[in-house]
Amino acid sequence: MFSYWENKHFFKFDLIVIGSGFVGLSTAIHFKKKHPKAKVLVMERGIFPTGASTKNAGFACFGSLTEILDDFWSMSQDEVLALVERRYKGLNSIRKQFGDKNLGYSHVNGYELLDESQLKVIEQMAGVNKLLKPIFKEDVFSLVKNPGKMGFSGQIKAIVKNKFEGELDPGKYMSSLWNLAQREGIRILTGISVYEINKDEGIVLGEDGSGKTNLEFKGSKIAICTNAFTKKLWPESDINPGRGLILLSEPLDFKLPWKGTFHMDKGYVYFRQIDGRLLLGGARNKDFEGESSTDFTVNPKIKSHLEKLATEVIFPAKNIQWDTEWTGIMAFGKIKSPIIQQVGLKTAAAVRLGGMGVAIGWQAGKELSVLISKM
Ligand SMILES: Cc1cc2nc3c(=O)[nH]c(=O)nc-3n(C[C@H](O)[C@H](O)[C@H](O)COP(=O)(O)OP(=O)(O)OC[C@H]3O[C@@H](n4cnc5c(N)ncnc54)[C@H](O)[C@@H]3O)c2cc1C
Repeated sequence: MFSYWENKHFFKFDLIVIGSGFVGLSTAIHFKKKHPKAKVLVMERGIFPTGASTKNAGFACFGSLTEILDDFWSMSQDEVLALVERRYKGLNSIRKQFGDKNLGYSHVNGYELLDESQLKVIEQMAGVNKLLKPIFKEDVFSLVKNPGKMGFSGQIKAIVKNKFEGELDPGKYMSSLWNLAQREGIRILTGISVYEINKDEGIVLGEDGSGKTNLEFKGSKIAICTNAFTKKLWPESDINPGRGLILLSEPLDFKLPWKGTFHMDKGYVYFRQIDGRLLLGGARNKDFEGESSTDFTVNPKIKSHLEKLATEVIFPAKNIQWDTEWTGIMAFGKIKSPIIQQVGLKTAAAVRLGGMGVAIGWQAGKELSVLISKM
């Protein structure tokens, strides 16, 4: 039973955002900046965001050479270029907004490892550089002159460098968003799972996990920012969950022969070093079906594939001790771009961020805020 004061002050808002990942917080912040008097609430089912935003690898990237070439099979040239530009501009906008120090951003460059079967893509590198020139003004991709120095196994025949990529600390990025949300006077309630919304009336029904308290909130506008978990609230959405596994080693007892963010296998596998440890993740393509899940469990098939890559390709003949592992859930669909659209008289969504939400989450939140303001 709620008090008169609770009922009067805690249940009605101008905007209710569901989901407190990068997109939810960005939406709330952009909206509040535009409408300083608005009462804005963000509702999150976990104690922390519990999806992808604080589970990811922290690559500040926009697409490796093979990934971009692969996209040309399913998208038009203009669409591919627009996607790259959106990601690159998105990265620049968070760096400008929060500052590199607050994001833990380092401009370490991106690299892609190519095996024998992929060497053909090198012939297309100059063409891709040319296509990307209007966005970057100079060549993005180049060949590493002495790849052997990086110490990878002999299977790796060439390494492509991307000089516009870097890495950041997703925990620092999230903390920067929290700090800004707090300064803007945005209320964040955690531990509330939304189980139903009335998209035309602006009613949000949630429960706090006790099984006893049902909560009914009213919003003049509602923003759905639940990414991979959206089908529960918007069943018609074109969203497929895609789980990602990350392994983190114990501190390594040898000096790393490289620095940077690395991709292999068309971007499906990625690794970097963090605090003298190896962070290695991905390989969803080794079991697409098994990884199409919102369940946070670890797929043993993927785990053993990654462990093998660590000792056979990344650090051949070295002994790697693993410290910890975790999973996060991404959202994919028939096409690669996010869904940002109105879904009811009072409701709009920004979901399906794919594997690039670090780069485009802030911008997606801005676009959703603009859309909501017009509704
Ligand atoms: C393993 C992994 C590695 C990745 N690596 C990178 C990378 O290196 N670079 C990059 O750019 N991107 C990467 N990504 C992708 C990136 O993390 C995501 O695109 C981005 O975080 C999506 O942000 P979001 O706010 O849309 O979703 P999320 O962060 O998933 O936020 C959605 C939130 O909604 C909450 N929620 C869901 N349902 C409800 C409900 N019913 N009620 C209340 N709350 C709810 C969830 O708990 C969650 O906190 C990676 C993702 C994973 C999983």
